[in-house]
Amino acid sequence: MKPPIQDLIADLPETIIHHIQHLERMRQDFVANVSHELRTPLTVIHGYLETLIHQDLDETKYLRKIFLQMHQQTLRMENLIEDLLLLSRLESEEEDDDTEKSIVNVPKLLKAICKEANTFSGEQKHSIQLKVEPKLFIEGNAFELRSLFSNIIFNAVKYTPAGGNILIRWFNKNNSVYFSVKDTGIGIAAKHIPRLTERFYRVDPGRSRRSGGTGLGLAIAKHVLLRHQAKLDVESKVGVGSVFTCIFRQPSK
Ligand code: ADP
Repeated sequence: MKPPIQDLIADLPETIIHHIQHLERMRQDFVANVSHELRTPLTVIHGYLETLIHQDLDETKYLRKIFLQMHQQTLRMENLIEDLLLLSRLESEEEDDDTEKSIVNVPKLLKAICKEANTFSGEQKHSIQLKVEPKLFIEGNAFELRSLFSNIIFNAVKYTPAGGNILIRWFNKNNSVYFSVKDTGIGIAAKHIPRLTERFYRVDPGRSRRSGGTGLGLAIAKHVLLRHQAKLDVESKVGVGSVFTCIFRQPSK
């Protein structure tokens, strides 16, 4: 049997012991969070299946409602697993791994994401405006950039009440390239802003889950930015709205 970790690290310098203990706590929190996130949709599906097994249901309308709910919950688990896999891939790869990089036509990419965001908004009829410099391309990983831009744009839709405005901009200033998304949404109190890119950190977990959020979107965004030598700036006011800006310190291509 392996000796407990405390015995193995007992003779190390105190700063290293603290670091190892911190990593161990992070690992435990992560496993607890993932288990909780997966258990919730499974409990819902389990409940519906029990109803189907034990009751004599022949009302098509009712059955349809049950199947819709179960479908929604399986989608939720699928999204979570996809985000977890992407996050673990981003974390394990080298920061300066250039193998998958190419010149990315960001204006075209943003146009496509914008269309998806309009579909996602649906009945909520947000006004989504796109202002881009049409010839502004950058070097990067197209798949990762798509994930970064989608997460920020879809968040603007998720956290902005129906009929609100969302402005997406892509522009060049002082040798840096900016991606910015401004919304007239619920906003974020200042104390939460430094923690938004932590895995599973949500200001309002209920609202996030109802809108299909995994709590991993901005953690993914943080890693994509790191791998593109870019940084994130968030400005927000509760009840007024937010501006998420990604700054790429590279000349346009
Ligand atoms: P989620 O899947 O919960 O949206 P994210 O990692 O993408 O996870 O975002 C973390 C949290 O940041 C969200 O749960 C939400 O509380 C907050 N947030 C992100 N974008 C916005 C926004 N545009 N307006 C208000 N809150 C936001």
